[in-house]
Amino acid sequence: MTLDIVTLSIALFFISSIQAIVMLFIFRTIQDYPGMYYLLASCISSAVSGLFFVLCTTFICGGLAFLGSNIFCFLAILTLNIGFSKFLGLKVEKEKLWILFAFLLAGFSAFTFGINNGRWRLILFSVLIAILSFLNTDILFHHKADSFRPVTRMAAVIHMLFGLFFALRAVFTIFYRTTDVFISTLLQLMALFLSIAGILINSCCFIIMAIQRERSEKDQANERFRQIFETIPDTVIISRFDTGEIIEINEKYTEETGYTRKETIGKTSMELNLWKNDKERELFYGLIRKQGVLRNIELHITAKNGRSLSALVSASLMKMEHQTYIISVVRNISRSKELVKKLNTSEETFKAIMEQSPVSFMLTDINGHIEYVNQKFLELTGYREEEVIGQTPRILKSGFQTRKFYQTLWKTITSGKQWSGDIRNKKKNGDIIWEHICLTPILDEEGSIMRFLAVQEDISSRKLMEEELRIQARTDMLTGVMNRRYFMEKAEKRLLNARATQQIAAFLMIDIDRFKDINDTFGHNMGDKAIRIIASQCQKMMKQEDLFGRIGGEEFGALIFCSNPEEHYQIADKIRCGVENISLLDVHGGRISLRISIGLTHYRPDEDTMETLMHRADMALYQAKNDGRNRVVLI
Ligand code: GH3
Ligand code: MG
Ligand code: MG
Repeated sequence: MTLDIVTLSIALFFISSIQAIVMLFIFRTIQDYPGMYYLLASCISSAVSGLFFVLCTTFICGGLAFLGSNIFCFLAILTLNIGFSKFLGLKVEKEKLWILFAFLLAGFSAFTFGINNGRWRLILFSVLIAILSFLNTDILFHHKADSFRPVTRMAAVIHMLFGLFFALRAVFTIFYRTTDVFISTLLQLMALFLSIAGILINSCCFIIMAIQRERSEKDQANERFRQIFETIPDTVIISRFDTGEIIEINEKYTEETGYTRKETIGKTSMELNLWKNDKERELFYGLIRKQGVLRNIELHITAKNGRSLSALVSASLMKMEHQTYIISVVRNISRSKELVKKLNTSEETFKAIMEQSPVSFMLTDINGHIEYVNQKFLELTGYREEEVIGQTPRILKSGFQTRKFYQTLWKTITSGKQWSGDIRNKKKNGDIIWEHICLTPILDEEGSIMRFLAVQEDISSRKLMEEELRIQARTDMLTGVMNRRYFMEKAEKRLLNARATQQIAAFLMIDIDRFKDINDTFGHNMGDKAIRIIASQCQKMMKQEDLFGRIGGEEFGALIFCSNPEEHYQIADKIRCGVENISLLDVHGGRISLRISIGLTHYRPDEDTMETLMHRADMALYQAKNDGRNRVVLI
């Protein structure tokens, strides 16, 4: 066998066919890589091109086969360009490629079906192949994927040589019109040589790039896995299912158990005494064997220092290269368990304090809905717990406080401040209860209001006493009418008011006649009774706006208001008559005669004070006494 064109073309066909088959195998595993379809198409095109070339050199139908060989050779290099661009992450220069392809088709058509000129067809083909090869050289030199740099450089050199050869061939064909068979055969042989070299180097280049890419992707995946593995906040243990031998752990494992990587890898959990007891170990393996997976089982792990850890364990089976492994994720919950225990204890203590407290507690949410009340609250209000939970404190409203009062209270607490004060509330049975309430907004860590706490103290008895004292301070004990101090205080205010509203008023000074005699004759007690009965009689004669009070031993004062000054005297006399008609009986059933004298004076708004008014009334009384008593004298 001689090294002629036929032999080389057959070799080219075989090599490119083998390359296409190899590529098909590679393609099956790495078809996801970008550009792989084009690289495969390139191999197939070069195999087809080789086949056509064999046909054109061995059969008579050489012309058409030669054309097909050229076109597929061109397509092989063109798809190579697209494949490399995509694989190396570069932009495919579609426009340029389309133009070259259009030139090829147009030129071949013109020089085949127009003027059948094999020389110009060769020139055009050589130029286009040279341009494509230079474009490929550019891609292979100037991409940015550094990991492929050595192999792409080698391929770039081949493409450059290929390009140079075809460029020279074009130039040569243009300028030297030779019919020398030797030279054209030599050129054809060189073209075939370079094609075979190109195919071989391109194949190597693909394979190396594919391997490198796969390795680097595996490395990256491994790295990512390792990072995830190490950043998982829980302990992760991978062990063999059949032997229990631990094959992988993360750093958290060492942190939690105290065992180093060296101490652990290759050992079983039993050898390391990780289980607290056999029962838990059997439970774990039983479940994993039965279900293949387990979620959040509470187990105990024994650390290297003997400390027992409470853990939530999740595990699942994983099959890898004919082996079954258990991946266990262990979450240490010792701390949270302790915290829960502490919280429970503090909550119980808190509840006990609340329940035994002598003051009542109420906890509401931010909208005022009751969430909790203690026993004392229920005792005080008479409600049952289920009747108040979810309600608002409005159920206790007695209607005594004004709307404004509640608005101020709500405004204070919703602004985050404390409010305290006395509130008159209503029990379930309608009874009134006075409470001193301290309302406190409970804030969270960011200072937002979460709840309101009301601490209520029953101050009903205190309030009652205060009220009694207040009444006592104003009332005359013997008669129940106003005492002197309160009468004077009120009368002064009423006079001011009368002056402002131009009311007509008069003042009466009332004194019991010969009272000493009553005391002396019937005893002091009877005297008291007489004072009481006279006071009550006088009070009866008063209108709502009038004032009446005891201002001395058996002396009374009255401030009366009428529309007409003449009426004053009539009223005073009516009072006198009323007393005259009282029938007070002594112990023997005899009637005690009661008489009063009244000093009357009109109020003069421009000049009078309480003092001047009383002074004139006193003078009038004095005169009434002098005039014989049991009468009214007006001054
Ligand atoms: P007159 O007609 O001039 O008023 O004669 P009188 O006896 O009523 O004289 P006067 O008003 O001065 O007397 C007041 C007496 O009232 C003196 C006192 O013993 C008596 N008295 C004062 N306060 C009380 C009291 O609370 N109870 C009793 N039983 N007697 C009182
Ligand atoms: Mg008197
Ligand atoms: Mg008297």
